[in-house]
Amino acid sequence: MQPRIYSLEEHQLSHEKIDNHAFYIIHKLREAGHKAFLVGGSVRDLLLNRTPKDYDISTSAKPEEIRSLFRNCILIGKRFRLAHIRFGKKIIEVSTFRAGETENAELIVRDNVWGSEEEDVLRRDFTINGLFYDPENQEIIDYVDGYSDIDRRILRTIGKPEIRFSQDPVRMIRLLKFSARFDFEIEQPTFQALLSCKREILKSSSARVLEELLRMLESGSSKEFFHLLNEYGMLKALLPELAHFLQIYPENITFELLKEIDIEIKKEHPSFDRSLLLAALIFPLFDAYLKTKMKAPRPPHLGQIAEMAYHVIGGIFDHFFTLPRKLRSMVANLITTQYRLVPLDGKLPKKPKIIKDLQFKDALHLLKLRAVAHSELMTFYTFWTKTAFLAHRGSSENASQEKVSHEH
Ligand code: ATP
Ligand code: MG
Repeated sequence: MQPRIYSLEEHQLSHEKIDNHAFYIIHKLREAGHKAFLVGGSVRDLLLNRTPKDYDISTSAKPEEIRSLFRNCILIGKRFRLAHIRFGKKIIEVSTFRAGETENAELIVRDNVWGSEEEDVLRRDFTINGLFYDPENQEIIDYVDGYSDIDRRILRTIGKPEIRFSQDPVRMIRLLKFSARFDFEIEQPTFQALLSCKREILKSSSARVLEELLRMLESGSSKEFFHLLNEYGMLKALLPELAHFLQIYPENITFELLKEIDIEIKKEHPSFDRSLLLAALIFPLFDAYLKTKMKAPRPPHLGQIAEMAYHVIGGIFDHFFTLPRKLRSMVANLITTQYRLVPLDGKLPKKPKIIKDLQFKDALHLLKLRAVAHSELMTFYTFWTKTAFLAHRGSSENASQEKVSHEH
């Protein structure tokens, strides 16, 4: 098939935004007689006038040939062998053109064979991710009508959507990620396939799915993403207890917490610890659960709350995911600490104790996020921030006094 070619006059892609190291790699591969293009998410982002967060290059050179050309290159992956070329902290991924799975709806377990540049595009997930950019001729090369889909803001799989989703169900999560991030519309057949294939997500590797969910919590579009995940029934497949909670407590603050996180990430670009993000996602559910246990004659103490937190985290995630042990205990600790900061009797503690805990700051941050939805919590947040500040000043004064007395 002949691709459509878009010249600079048509696509107007801003060349200066492209990473110089990506240029350098493409140039060097071409000098050695190989084909090489920028591909995937970076081309899409440049056309949308966004700065790409990483660059992928596709080439006719085989992995060993790539390695022989670049000193700073390592080959990774057994199943999907590709080259990582490192420049300081930055890594550029270079992969050899490969043929995709055929029109066979089996889950892919084996990864595929080398192919032509066209085949390399056809194995990709969505048309908007299937464009090549040739930086030397400044041309976009389009085998899948991805260019006009970007223009019309439409999400569409490359190939038959049911087949592509069955082959790799993580593509359905990626579909919602792009829909949430770019606010693109999902075209009808792709949308119908999402509805009919959604439960197949449970056949994917849970580690891959967890990674996608965590990345979305870090993305600045988490509220919209979880909203779509819930609306289209995938949340019910992946985290049924959370989906059930959102349905029976429509006035819960889960989405408000996600919105606050998105606002902070977009404004200040902080990096949130993943334990804090997960704790925020499930805190409203835990709080509602705990409140149902409050009818017992005595409210639970912190030790019991910690036990409940482990129990609830297990109930939410163990259905499909395997949360790493450390992450699980950090999430439980953040949730439990909320009830130290805001005791169940609703009173400010008389003798507040600042715990020398690396997670204390994150627990306070979670309280701040909650306070945006429940303004009465602001008093607690201010109280603990002041207490922590005074405790910190006290301990650094003590330390410097000790230092002075040692020096004498
Ligand atoms: P992001 O901006 O989040 O990095 P991306 O589209 O660049 O989005 P990557 O995971 O970096 O996503 O993947 C790079 C490219 O590899 C994609 O643009 C797409 O062409 C292809 N790709 C990624 N995952 C899949 C998949 N599951 N199936 C088919 N192609 C995929
Ligand atoms: Mg990418």
